Amino acid sequence: MTNLIAINSVDDIPKKYLNTPVADLLQYHNMSKPIDVAYDKAELLVGMCMDNRKRLIIPNNFAFIIRAGGANLRYSAFKVSYAIAVGKIRHIAVIAHNNCGMVNVSARKEDFVNGLVEFAGWQKQKAYEHFDEFAHKFEIGNEISFIKNEANRLRLRYPKVMVAPLYYNVDDNKLYLVREEKNKFLEELSE
Ligand SMILES: [Zn+2]
Repeated sequence: MTNLIAINSVDDIPKKYLNTPVADLLQYHNMSKPIDVAYDKAELLVGMCMDNRKRLIIPNNFAFIIRAGGANLRYSAFKVSYAIAVGKIRHIAVIAHNNCGMVNVSARKEDFVNGLVEFAGWQKQKAYEHFDEFAHKFEIGNEISFIKNEANRLRLRYPKVMVAPLYYNVDDNKLYLVREEKNKFLEELSE
């Protein structure tokens, strides 16, 4: 998994994230840093998939969490802005994961339609229309490429906020950092 950086000790955390809530998240979740810490406000905004296989090990009050299919925050813009403007968040972690249901959504079209007919009482035609209206908006393609793009999109939109793309492995329940190519433009923007 060369796209991912395993984080097992503080030494594995890239310098730019040290002493930030992103490093704290990695330490709480991956390194069993004690979570009985009293936060009086949220330090981090986490965007993660709604998938049920993931649970972050973090202290109370540490983070705002927006859960949306594929960790796609495109349709949560107001909530992100609110967390920054009113919640005074300066750091965001967007977390992809393996085996995400938002990868290759179109392959699940028949399951989706049949499920709505059987379990929700929909008419088949309506279920097809519903799928066709929304599936392309929620398709993330490759989860790692998507999360890198999502991080860059948020960096451009909120230039004073640090955004870290992370990856949750549902097999070992660990967080990884997503390796990013050097991006001069974004680095200058964040200085
Ligand atoms: Zn997912």
